Amino acid sequence: MTFEAVTLDMATLDFPTAADIGTLSGAPLRSWVDTGIDTVAASVGKPAERVRSRLTETTGAKDLTAADEEDLRECLRVLRAWANNPASYIPPARKPKVERPEGIGQLPVPRVIKQAHTDTVCGLCADPVKTGDLTGRMRDPKHKLFTPMGWLCARCLYERRENPRRRDVVLRIFHHLFASSAVGLNAYECGILHAWLTETEAPSASTAWRDDPLDTTLVRLETAVTEGKGATWIAFPTAHTVIAALTAAPGGSAAERELLHAVAQHLDEWHTNPRGVDVRRYGTGPRCRAQVLKATDRPTVLSERGGPFDLHHTPPPTTEQESGTDASVADDA
Ligand SMILES: [Zn+2]
Repeated sequence: MTFEAVTLDMATLDFPTAADIGTLSGAPLRSWVDTGIDTVAASVGKPAERVRSRLTETTGAKDLTAADEEDLRECLRVLRAWANNPASYIPPARKPKVERPEGIGQLPVPRVIKQAHTDTVCGLCADPVKTGDLTGRMRDPKHKLFTPMGWLCARCLYERRENPRRRDVVLRIFHHLFASSAVGLNAYECGILHAWLTETEAPSASTAWRDDPLDTTLVRLETAVTEGKGATWIAFPTAHTVIAALTAAPGGSAAERELLHAVAQHLDEWHTNPRGVDVRRYGTGPRCRAQVLKATDRPTVLSERGGPFDLHHTPPPTTEQESGTDASVADDA
């Protein structure tokens, strides 16, 4: 009896906290997973191999030696939950059947879904994911240019293109610009952006809009909505103007404002390179932007996550494009 109590306390004391797990990487992360497997094996009285295979089954990480750091961190969260409560060391629950949207709002089937073992935050939108909520990961991007996303909330896994929030549209703009791509929006996203740009006079009164009027863009967004288009492409400079005009306008939720300011900050840093990232080494494209983002002395939800992320589009980008833009890098469909 006392043995169990001691094991429980030891596990709690010895294990990295949920916050620590978020910052672990490299060899210490891998070594903690091994330690965690041994700790749980001792506490549930099963061979380490059995714990290891239940762990891979639970997290969808087929092979721990090949698993990326996001999967290893999730392994550690699961091990932490098991170590703290050996009664929770049970086979994984059956995967819930999730109804995916159809048509232009559809996202690819995730690579893995599970219930969250601890409270965490979404690897894309940064919203909280509570213990027991659905979480999961998309398949690795086909194009090498993109960075795999971490564990996402259910909204980001299924709903963000069918029923987008303003923040989903801003994230989309950010990651397309990051990847040197024009910004591809479906009709739902065009509708959200159009409403945001026109609901008050403030965006059109901004300096950014006066210098680069968005009236033609508004017409294209409206047409996209009327015709239910799968993809409408907003050119790189126009997307910059959109962000500047929205950032200059007051209003919106705190989360929307924080995200807009973060995007504006990073667009500016990509332009000015304030930390002097060696552009001869990284070029001027996404690799260089990733370094500038990482080196920022004002970290944001975006710099903490990195990128660029492939946020997917339907159909593939063979439709209308503004001249001088290149959407081909985002072709993942
Ligand atoms: Zn999310």
